[in-house]
Amino acid sequence: MKVLNLDELEDANFKIDKEAFKPKTLTCSKCKIKMKKAEIETNLAGGINIELSGFECPKCKKRYLGLEEARKLDRALIISKIMMNEFKMERSLSFDGDNFTFRIPKEFTHNVKKRKIEVMPLGAKQFCASIQ
Ligand SMILES: [Zn+2]
Repeated sequence: MKVLNLDELEDANFKIDKEAFKPKTLTCSKCKIKMKKAEIETNLAGGINIELSGFECPKCKKRYLGLEEARKLDRALIISKIMMNEFKMERSLSFDGDNFTFRIPKEFTHNVKKRKIEVMPLGAKQFCASIQ
């Protein structure tokens, strides 16, 4: 009977995941040469600009992103889609000397029981909020 060594298995999986997640080097699949590290600035809809650390092929100029950076791009794309969405309404903003407050209509929420909200700043006048 073959005994599966879980420790070895997990260790091997971790190494592969780690490399794919944040690769140190990449080779262009077309030119077969080593790609250079590059800061890739992407303009998304809704006035969002994001900077990602990826790789660029010095020959064909093709760009690649590691998994971690690709996830950042995915998140930014979701935010930009939300910001482009026509489904929005205007709320009045109050200021108590320290904080701005506004009311969220209950029609905008679904099954909200907790009273905690996470706010992620996107710029001086933009942010993304999600109820925890
Ligand atoms: Zn190339």
